[in-house]
Amino acid sequence: MKPRKRILVLGGGFGGVYAAKSLERAFRRHPDVEITLVNKDNFFLFTPMLHEVAASDLDVTHIVNPIRKLLRRASFFHGEVLGIDLERRAVTVTHGIDGGHPHELAFDHLVLALGSVTNFYGIPGLEERALTMRSLGDAIALKNRLIRHMEEADFECCTELRRRLLTFVVAGGGFAGVETIAAMHDFVHDSLRYYPGLRPEHVRMVLVHSGPRILPELTDKLGRYAEKKLAARGVELRLGTRVTGLCRDAVELSDGTQITSTSLVWTAGSAPNPSVAGLPCANERGRVLVDPMMRVPGWPGVWALGDCALVPDGRGGFHPPTAQHACRQGRVLAKNLAASEFGGKERPFSFRTLGQLASLGRRSGVASVFGCNFSGFPAWWLWRTIYLAKLPRFERKFRVALDWTLDLVFAKDLVQTPTTVRADTSALRPAMRVHDTGLVAEAAPRA
Ligand SMILES: Cc1cc2nc3c(=O)[nH]c(=O)nc-3n(C[C@H](O)[C@H](O)[C@H](O)COP(=O)(O)OP(=O)(O)OC[C@H]3O[C@@H](n4cnc5c(N)ncnc54)[C@H](O)[C@@H]3O)c2cc1C
Repeated sequence: MKPRKRILVLGGGFGGVYAAKSLERAFRRHPDVEITLVNKDNFFLFTPMLHEVAASDLDVTHIVNPIRKLLRRASFFHGEVLGIDLERRAVTVTHGIDGGHPHELAFDHLVLALGSVTNFYGIPGLEERALTMRSLGDAIALKNRLIRHMEEADFECCTELRRRLLTFVVAGGGFAGVETIAAMHDFVHDSLRYYPGLRPEHVRMVLVHSGPRILPELTDKLGRYAEKKLAARGVELRLGTRVTGLCRDAVELSDGTQITSTSLVWTAGSAPNPSVAGLPCANERGRVLVDPMMRVPGWPGVWALGDCALVPDGRGGFHPPTAQHACRQGRVLAKNLAASEFGGKERPFSFRTLGQLASLGRRSGVASVFGCNFSGFPAWWLWRTIYLAKLPRFERKFRVALDWTLDLVFAKDLVQTPTTVRADTSALRPAMRVHDTGLVAEAAPRA
């Protein structure tokens, strides 16, 4: 009997999920081919809408999809990749509660789609104290922080302390940073009417960016428009400035000044995923160098895509790390992988960015789509329409559309999302254990 072919996809983000879905199609008539996707969360996160969760525009679960509902034939392994051994063609993954236990998954084809991680550049205090904006947990933590500080500040009699609680700093003037500060601004200001002790002048929002203007990926005109919009709402822009440290109650800046705040959201750096950065294959600054077909040279059957890979763009550079590239790379990679099995022709990945959009809150935005620039309401409308269309599964689209519609009538939600549960001393109550992404309740043994 012919041995089963094992295709292992590591990472359930844009690259991994789209690759796995296309692999299912490519091998639909080949039951002897086993496709397994490994991801540390059991859901696929739609990152472009992450700031809307942080700002309470969208319900926490509406921008994520259970990976099992996205896949039809492929198996899903909910676990964390611990090590990749290209020589032995095996991946060690850990899963399970109480620290987990390891499994070894052998492969004939390996697809690396593990994305990137936050880079803190070794800046003192950042890794321990800063909030980040990369995962669903980050968005929940930010929303909780905003609400907690408003709750505390409402009854705070020390003016200095109240000021510190209501000063929020975002580092990074790229898409993630700009959308995050715009969303935070709207959320806090829209919520002030429920806090009689707070007034708009108590709130301070600062965007720190090392470049001369924000949104450098867009035209100068759109970048300036975004700056004007944010400044008009009272967001302070500190351009040409870097964060150099974060201590208990202040953000230190490269111009020698300090901002008294305990809330810094760090969106200013990405680093390669450590699981791929140390692999023996060719890489540049930790990202795997692949050929235009997304094969890893020198390692037959190993492929890479998305943020963890450098895919040549045919013009002497590499494709940028965006979701629109990662999902298209996934589809092409799957066809190439199938072609390598069936003896077909593999084709290089070729794609030009269709457009870039940023939501600036208050029904305004900036967008550059097919070379045309938009700002204000049309750009915001485009942002919502395009990303709603891209969000996987009708059910989630429907829920998001409903959230946005209800948002026109009702105020933003001020309920904190609980992320920890204190163990109860009562023997009659179930014992609760806290997990990093949520809650797990266990029935206590009955006496
Ligand atoms: C806040 C934010 C907003 C963004 N907005 C946009 C946008 O508007 N438009 C756009 O085009 N791009 C946007 N991006 C960029 C886009 O999200 C990435 O380019 C895209 O997600 C890359 O896809 P990927 O599959 O390479 O990585 P990811 O989508 O990050 O997927 C990697 C997956 O691997 C998993 N993983 C990582 N390590 C392990 C491990 N050790 N074990 C198991 N699983 C692991 C992760 O949990 C994740 O599911 C945004 C990114 C962020 C953070």
